[in-house]
Amino acid sequence: MTRKEKYRFVINYFEQHAPNAETELIYDNPFQLLVAVILSAQCTDKRVNLTTPVLFAHYPTPYSMAQASFDELFPFIRSISYPNNKTKHLIGMANMLIHDFKGEVPMTVEELVKLPGVGRKTANVITSVIDEQPNMAVDTHVFRVSHRLGLTSPSATTPLAVEKELIKNIPTELVHKAHHWLILHGRYICLARTPKCAECGVTEVCNYYKKLNKGRK
Ligand code: SF4
Repeated sequence: MTRKEKYRFVINYFEQHAPNAETELIYDNPFQLLVAVILSAQCTDKRVNLTTPVLFAHYPTPYSMAQASFDELFPFIRSISYPNNKTKHLIGMANMLIHDFKGEVPMTVEELVKLPGVGRKTANVITSVIDEQPNMAVDTHVFRVSHRLGLTSPSATTPLAVEKELIKNIPTELVHKAHHWLILHGRYICLARTPKCAECGVTEVCNYYKKLNKGRK
């Protein structure tokens, strides 16, 4: 099977079985999504979703968040991983939104990565989820699933290398959705330690599965 055929198979599968895949973070507007994605670094979406309703109620806009002191905001995100850094990032991000972007969340990766707490992965999430731009955020799930399936070559050893290979091979109009397909597959089926291959619909094209079952009848 060529790589092109493999991509076609995987995309067809997810198009049929997860046509409406989307982020599990709960948000109402770009600012809220940006806050939620910053909080989700090294933390589960579930934990973030438990935290954000009260946080958003207190700080509904960049203007209100920019005025918060460290000691005021910190308690709202205390239960999230790395609360110290994230508190500073949120306040810094809100201030920069106001001073450099007229209070609006910018919609290019180049602008977004200037914000405190926002790296390439976060910027890719924001632009693909809000604006359906063909940007692929590569987190640990996307990285693992892409390699196990053989969508990416073994030489793609960094998130950026994986991102580039995926972008090159996935039809542009599907990239924003493929991001969710790979994340959700990694989160619920292709688990890091014990992948649930018996529940997986793409076993027949998976390199990892083939390797695991080599020699078995
Ligand atoms: S067959 Fe197993 S290893 Fe391969 S993608 Fe599915 S769950 Fe992951």
